Amino acid sequence: MSSDAPTITRRPNRSPATQEPQSDYASHRKIHPKAVRGRYRRVKTWLGAVLLALFALLPFLRWDRGPGVPDQAVLFDLGSQRFYIFALQLWPQHVYYITGVMIIAAIGLFLATALGGRVWCGFTCPQTVWTDLFVWVERRVEGDRTDRIRLDKQPWTARWLAKKAVKHAAWLAISAVTGFLSIAYLTDAPTLAVDLLRFDAPALAAGSVLFMAGCTYLMAGFMREQMCFYVCPWPRIQAAMLDEDSLVVTYQDWRGEGRAPLRKSEGWDTRAQKGFGDCIDCGQCVQVCPTGIDIRDGIQMECIGCGLCVDACNDVMARIGRPGDLIRFDTLTAQAAKATTAPPPRYRLLRPRTIVYGLMLVVVGGAMAIALALKPSNDIAVLRDRAPLFVTLSDGRIQNAYTIKIANMSLEDRHYRLTLSGLPQASLALSGESGEAGELALSARGNAVETYRIQVRVPQSALAGASTPLAFTLTPEPAGEPVRHDSVFLAP
Ligand code: SF4
Ligand code: SF4
Repeated sequence: MSSDAPTITRRPNRSPATQEPQSDYASHRKIHPKAVRGRYRRVKTWLGAVLLALFALLPFLRWDRGPGVPDQAVLFDLGSQRFYIFALQLWPQHVYYITGVMIIAAIGLFLATALGGRVWCGFTCPQTVWTDLFVWVERRVEGDRTDRIRLDKQPWTARWLAKKAVKHAAWLAISAVTGFLSIAYLTDAPTLAVDLLRFDAPALAAGSVLFMAGCTYLMAGFMREQMCFYVCPWPRIQAAMLDEDSLVVTYQDWRGEGRAPLRKSEGWDTRAQKGFGDCIDCGQCVQVCPTGIDIRDGIQMECIGCGLCVDACNDVMARIGRPGDLIRFDTLTAQAAKATTAPPPRYRLLRPRTIVYGLMLVVVGGAMAIALALKPSNDIAVLRDRAPLFVTLSDGRIQNAYTIKIANMSLEDRHYRLTLSGLPQASLALSGESGEAGELALSARGNAVETYRIQVRVPQSALAGASTPLAFTLTPEPAGEPVRHDSVFLAP
């Protein structure tokens, strides 16, 4: 962690009901976040809706790649080891692109955190988006926070059972759709949908859908904030990306303390004389918090930076006639300045770490773009026969056999010329065909791997030893970038 990283504390374990400290070994108490209106709530709702819509629609989007090739726009076809992402097609040979994408995603996350704190966690992480959706359903069925707390304390009645049944049925339906959509990225989505509806899906696909549905139901319905506290490593790592100039959710304690309930008879001047600040200790910021924390305790590992406490407090401030943003997204540098009479510094977008992360993004992104533009569309793999290692022919020549695999990664059929270097007197023969020559004409269907068995024959006098290095070169016809594979020729 850098020396200027802000201190992020792990808050003492508190009861969600009373906010009193409790033993770390106390059993988990459910958090019932209260509904809130405001700017960040709107952003979260719209962003969540767009992300969910994208997730649901992408597997059904079609992309014409020609005959014999899947037309699903985004398809991670593990069976045939191909990834189709719109016009891009990745083979196992291109695994380094996937590594590159993951590196870019990681650096992007570092940059976003350095600039805006845990914006990923609070607004776009799937755990947050699905939990938000599940809480919304819960609220529609069981009511807002107070109703839900009351309902949870009530004995089982027909009404209680009906509400719980409706909620869990809705959760299960969302989980089932999520499970289906997750697997729809791995196979043809409409076919999977029809197969599932007919109870005719392959066991592996059906099992995977059920597994993903179960994970969704458990993680968004029950685990919720505990996934962030105990499972996700990011809260532990993110402190290293933050500095004093990162935007984080902060409580302006210099303005809010000392906190005390607002009495009707009390004017703001009287409160100020008594040493009270703008915080009226209404607890709204805690009640809306999806992780059940009190941001007034300072920056905490459990804060996902969703900004809902900002909305709640702004609403309170508007109602009591005080300026908003007692809780706000701000930098610690600005907060320190505002606590004094010094003018708050301007937000510094360009800082050493944001410049480094930005440069890393440009370099890795640029390298990826160049690599993609130059991506080879042919590959050759050569496997030499091990039994027998070599054969001595009746004319005295030595023969080695090889299996050649040609990967035609383009979508059209191609013709190739296979040549050999390292053994000038060698001739090539295609297994099962008569005749031999210095080179072979081969072909491969588009988006396929063709396998050929060939023999290499060399006069014994042309060999310098028991093992001679050679190289096969595959050149697309009439023109194209050749690809090469090194091997050896063995002799007695
Ligand atoms: S919502 Fe605002 S006024 Fe109410 S307790 Fe939180 S910080 Fe204080
Ligand atoms: S403290 Fe505020 S920003 Fe942090 S998780 Fe709770 S509601 Fe969201």
